[in-house]
Amino acid sequence: MERDEQVWWGVRYPHKEAKVKKRRTLAEIKEKVEKGAAVVMTADELCNSVRSGEDVSFEDVDVVTSATCGLKSGTFSVLSFKVAEREEFERASKVFLNGVPAFAGPCPNERLGIIDAIVYGTSRRDEKYGGGHLFRELVAGEEIEVVVETVEGRRIETTTNLEEIPFARLCGTRNAFKNYYAFVNAHEDEVASIFSVSKFEGAFKELTFSGCGELNPLEKDPFMDTIGVGTKILMNGAEGFVIGEGTRSSAKKPNLMGIADMHGMLPEYLGGFRTSAGPEVWNSWAVPIPVLNERVLENAKRLDEEIQLGVLDVHNRLPVGEITYADVWRDCDLSVRFDEHKCIECEECQVASICPTDAFDVMAKEVNADLCCNCGACVRFCQEGAFYCNLGVVTLSGREIPVTLRQSDRKRAAKLAEMLKRKILDADFTLSEPAGRL
Ligand code: SF4
Ligand code: SF4
Repeated sequence: MERDEQVWWGVRYPHKEAKVKKRRTLAEIKEKVEKGAAVVMTADELCNSVRSGEDVSFEDVDVVTSATCGLKSGTFSVLSFKVAEREEFERASKVFLNGVPAFAGPCPNERLGIIDAIVYGTSRRDEKYGGGHLFRELVAGEEIEVVVETVEGRRIETTTNLEEIPFARLCGTRNAFKNYYAFVNAHEDEVASIFSVSKFEGAFKELTFSGCGELNPLEKDPFMDTIGVGTKILMNGAEGFVIGEGTRSSAKKPNLMGIADMHGMLPEYLGGFRTSAGPEVWNSWAVPIPVLNERVLENAKRLDEEIQLGVLDVHNRLPVGEITYADVWRDCDLSVRFDEHKCIECEECQVASICPTDAFDVMAKEVNADLCCNCGACVRFCQEGAFYCNLGVVTLSGREIPVTLRQSDRKRAAKLAEMLKRKILDADFTLSEPAGRL
């Protein structure tokens, strides 16, 4: 092994302690941005340059913008808003927003007619609608129904929208994973799972996965050399902050906790995602990686081919194999296409009932691009071939297993990374020094 390399959980990285000859400070990068002289590359652009054989050196890039978009179960919102006049009730006992149960409090200030409510992205009204759907509708400016049951036995019914909610924050308790896992069902029996949109078929008939591979923030900065407490991010298009490591974060599988104001968010970057085990929530992060030294750049240059993707059995989450993100993202289509001429208007459209984001309107024969997360489920369920996407086939222990579902949208992640790049170059997003290390 080279002295400047280390093997960390089976992966070769530039050594954490390796001597780096070339360095720059964040202040120097910010000065270059102000002068219009900084080079900002998206992770996509950087990796494509490396892949095409270009020698991207320290002098060639000042900032890399990374991103991820996909299912993030540990997401919740905190909302504070008026539901009644002062003194109308003492305390709320139950709160429902569009039928999704919320937790009243923790601050019991309801005598003011204001409730504080916490809504989990995974809370559900029914099998089709949950917190993730609610968040998206709020961000899209839609009116929502509010029901408050009080300790006095009163029931207050009203409506509101994001404009009327002065405090609305989205918080990820375990977001931006350093990539995730792929899943197969190693047993014969089908199983309901958050990792499939219909019962997960076995044995080894399909593979589903999450993670944006070489675009992922913690793959670009695996030692958190630049990402820390207080790092500014874009969460669903709005400025937010990393507030620490997320729950169950570990050296092998780190993840981040972050928060952002919902008022600046864009609805195309978040929403609900229906799985065979109920509704889930998806959202998107973009994180700037200032290239402070050569090692930061070397890590940021890592490609899908070098990034492991563990394959787990969906029953017990035990490992059954290992592939790389190149197996699921390279030589595949990022977008799903719909050909209305191939749609024969079946009596019961399988796609309309299975599409996890309700993106397909069978009456209008249209896919809502803002809702479609390019998961690929429709490709399998439309027998007429009206949907097309090469999702790829993975070889695992000699078996060829088709990819049937992607729970991350790399195309959207790339779009958010591009947005962050533009904002940095336009001085619309200021790079920040972390207030604390992770
Ligand atoms: S299943 Fe396919 S062909 Fe049938 S209505 Fe749906 S999209 Fe059209
Ligand atoms: S790829 Fe197909 S199934 Fe997935 S969200 Fe888009 S239309 Fe729906």
